[in-house]
Amino acid sequence: MKFVCYKEFEDPEEPIYPGILYKEKILPLARVVAVAEACHPRGLTVPEDLNTLISQLSTYVPAVKDLEKKKLLEQIWPEIGVTPTAPLPRPNRIIAIGRNYAEHAAEVGSEAPTEPIVFQKSSGCVIGPDQPIMLPDDVGRIDFEGELAVVIGKLGRNITEADAMGHVAGYTLMNDVTARDEQKRHIAQGLPWFMSKSYDTFGPLGPCIVTADEIKNPHNLELTLAVNGEVKQKANTSEMIFSIPKLIAYISRRITLEPGDVIITGTPPGIAPIRPGDTVEVSIPEIGTLSNPVIGEDSL
Ligand code: MG
Repeated sequence: MKFVCYKEFEDPEEPIYPGILYKEKILPLARVVAVAEACHPRGLTVPEDLNTLISQLSTYVPAVKDLEKKKLLEQIWPEIGVTPTAPLPRPNRIIAIGRNYAEHAAEVGSEAPTEPIVFQKSSGCVIGPDQPIMLPDDVGRIDFEGELAVVIGKLGRNITEADAMGHVAGYTLMNDVTARDEQKRHIAQGLPWFMSKSYDTFGPLGPCIVTADEIKNPHNLELTLAVNGEVKQKANTSEMIFSIPKLIAYISRRITLEPGDVIITGTPPGIAPIRPGDTVEVSIPEIGTLSNPVIGEDSL
């Protein structure tokens, strides 16, 4: 099942609605749940808080599959002319992993880490598909970083590697946009990465959350990132240094993971700067393509 969020108008004050992506069409989750409950009552509801809703994603899967089998999904009126947002417009937290691909660690002049490098990226920088990444003109080099994002659906502390995948609601994509010159300057001064990772619009997320049941092996996904159609990053998630269960176990040893947390699993090699006028596309075939234009701040 592919979960999306959307707005009826682009106005930031407008409410955000959850939906299901079915044959390229957005079906409102409220309508899907109403039809599903009429056919086969399961006690499904649609909570207003999206982080809570994420904790229930797996409960919608059997109902949606049932409606698909009965050819009832096709009869649900899709939304037309709506604006997709990020599937989690304000994640509970974005827990980011640095240098989780050996060749990327090498290209930034570092050794492959022996322990996960964990940092936080502001949830406030999240934007959705097709929304512009805005570049300030006075901070030097700014890079793309295509990444697989893991969406946590179940509360847990001290989660074992064996239990870790049971805490995953699904998967999406993130472009972990980074003010590289500023990050290097901060690293040299012993300062945190938070600022250079968290500028407004530096967190494109989407286009959908694919529920965990549909991704048989998240460690065998082909990730590509293209700028203006030219492939810049191409890797398989099998190349990650620390696997998803290892990351979940490592983080949750000290920090309780909560529904709506998003773990971004690190970028493969090939990072490079982006410039106003570019279009950046992050893709994993099983998830989709996250495309964002790049604009200069002074073009606003
Ligand atoms: Mg990154």
